[in-house]
Amino acid sequence: MSSNVTVTVGGESHVVPVGTIVRDVLKNGIPSKDLVAARVDGKLVDLTRKLEHDAAVEPVLADSPEGLEVIRHSTAHLMAMAVQSLFPGTQVTIGPVIEDGFFYDFAPPAPFTVEDLPKIEAKMRELAKADHKITRTEVPREEAVKKFAAMGEKYKVEIIAEAEDPISIYSQGDWMDLCRGPHVPSTRYLKAFKLTSVAGAYWRGDEHNAMLSRIYGTAFASKEALEEHLKLVELAHQRDHRKLGREMGLYIFDPISPGSPFYLPKGVIIFNALIDYMRRLYRRYGYDEVVTPLIFKNAMFNTSGHWENFRENMFLSPDPDSDEHSIDTGPDGWHHGYGLKPMNCPGHTFVYRAEKRSYRDLPLRFAEFSRLHRAERSGTLHGLMRVRAMSQDDAHIFCREDQIEDEIALNLQMVREVYGALGFDHVEFKLATMPEQHLGTPEQWEMSEGKLANALKRNEIPFDINPKEGAFYGPKIEIYVSDALKRKWQVATIQLDYNAPERFDLSYTNSAGAEERPVMIHRAILGSLERFIGVLIEHTGGVLPLWLAPEQVRVLSLSEKVEDYAKEIADLLKREGFRAHADIRNEKLGFKVREAELAKVPYMVVVGEREAADRSVSLRLLRGEKSNAMPLAALVEKLKQEPIPA
Ligand SMILES: [Zn+2]
Ligand SMILES: [Zn+2]
Repeated sequence: MSSNVTVTVGGESHVVPVGTIVRDVLKNGIPSKDLVAARVDGKLVDLTRKLEHDAAVEPVLADSPEGLEVIRHSTAHLMAMAVQSLFPGTQVTIGPVIEDGFFYDFAPPAPFTVEDLPKIEAKMRELAKADHKITRTEVPREEAVKKFAAMGEKYKVEIIAEAEDPISIYSQGDWMDLCRGPHVPSTRYLKAFKLTSVAGAYWRGDEHNAMLSRIYGTAFASKEALEEHLKLVELAHQRDHRKLGREMGLYIFDPISPGSPFYLPKGVIIFNALIDYMRRLYRRYGYDEVVTPLIFKNAMFNTSGHWENFRENMFLSPDPDSDEHSIDTGPDGWHHGYGLKPMNCPGHTFVYRAEKRSYRDLPLRFAEFSRLHRAERSGTLHGLMRVRAMSQDDAHIFCREDQIEDEIALNLQMVREVYGALGFDHVEFKLATMPEQHLGTPEQWEMSEGKLANALKRNEIPFDINPKEGAFYGPKIEIYVSDALKRKWQVATIQLDYNAPERFDLSYTNSAGAEERPVMIHRAILGSLERFIGVLIEHTGGVLPLWLAPEQVRVLSLSEKVEDYAKEIADLLKREGFRAHADIRNEKLGFKVREAELAKVPYMVVVGEREAADRSVSLRLLRGEKSNAMPLAALVEKLKQEPIPA
């Protein structure tokens, strides 16, 4: 056996002695504080891992997604060490990394409370500063069981029983934990963390097991990144669309219909303004609106494939014409009963079939805003973001094979236009390709994926591939927007479908007089209007552009003497087509302003005796601008100049 190994780092090969540690081949140019772990032949390892054979070695940097995971899990260990030193008799269980942080489940003598967190954090900082080296050892399973049993760690013993032999153990100072790793080289690397909350959790998530005490926390590569994150979390809390929806009087939820919003009059204004906007675009882009039933015989859902793939997400109903009142949810249950539609697609195939179609009629673009119902589990419901009842700006395009690319391109153009107009600057595109389970041949998939890719390229739209994430019937373009809180939302989709036209036996007469199948494109730009409104409210903090604001102008009177003038202004603005109200209550101006701000009214118009005398107003804008005196006519002009996307 050679006493040297060849390592490849950044495309360059070096010969180093066997047993050289990973860190020593990565030193070049990377400050040691930024280097937290490594990949050896693709496998994540500690920097202290010894190189035993030829390998490709890559650095894992602190602020990379993997680096963050290493830091967060190492911080979970640090927390467990602090907890066990502060609360003797506490047993440890598991401490995984989760999105944006980590948790650790403990079995303490008494459950932890949020009051314990500052104390634990202080201890963690002390232990981090002490710069305990973090070392990995491997021991046979038997020995590990003995070790942890002697420590009274019965949960760990249970975990070891299921782990692969040998068992790896990570130690720092006099503390150790069973762990696969990797970890940062020493506790000194952990300097930006925060414990965020406590909760109860059953051991192994099973309610028959003991209740454990869970502590949540987060950690970042730098204090700046941590602070930035905590700021965004706080902002997300302030902007929660459920909270703002209540304050702005937009919508409510009630257990009488879980997951189904009740839109209040002001919420309906936003809902309808978005639909009106899409309708204006539809006229320009050549869409026809249709209205199809909400409830269909299950036979249709059998033809579409929904019965087979989606029926557990559907609300079902017995057939009123039948004596059979029970609902059969089995595979053959589609012979009877009705279902509330979860999607518009199957219904639109009947609209297509309403007439004989010729190649000259295509493309046909059918749009529909009808309510859709999906039987989501109650535990997954979340405000407007996850609902049981929704409307989509849904449309289905029926076209010829040679029209696909143009249709996709037209939709991409619409996506960009809509998100530009709605103030989302950051839009990302992904092409989701053939999944494991699919209809059709790989050649067909390659061709249709090529068409979507071409349309993206023609529009000079950069995109990533989302491998194997297409629908089972065809590839799709997924469109994501980033909001002001740096969260990503999938909103729009454009999907190619050869399957539905086949299942519903759709055809058109081609130029040679023969029958051919059209292709179906499913697309939604806003997606679910519910979800979109939720995203929009959190993105803007409720400060909507004028055309979407439920109440656009509120006239605030300074005293009883100007009541009539205030009412006159509101009436004038209403005649001009604006949504205006006069607040002539006998309240202090400060109080009225605060209420208008809470309701997120973009234009606050203040009038007192001086304004009444010279027929002017004092304008105060929600978006920070200072109050501003202007003639009444100038206010009307200013309002008329606010942009409305068309
Ligand atoms: Zn661990
Ligand atoms: Zn569809």
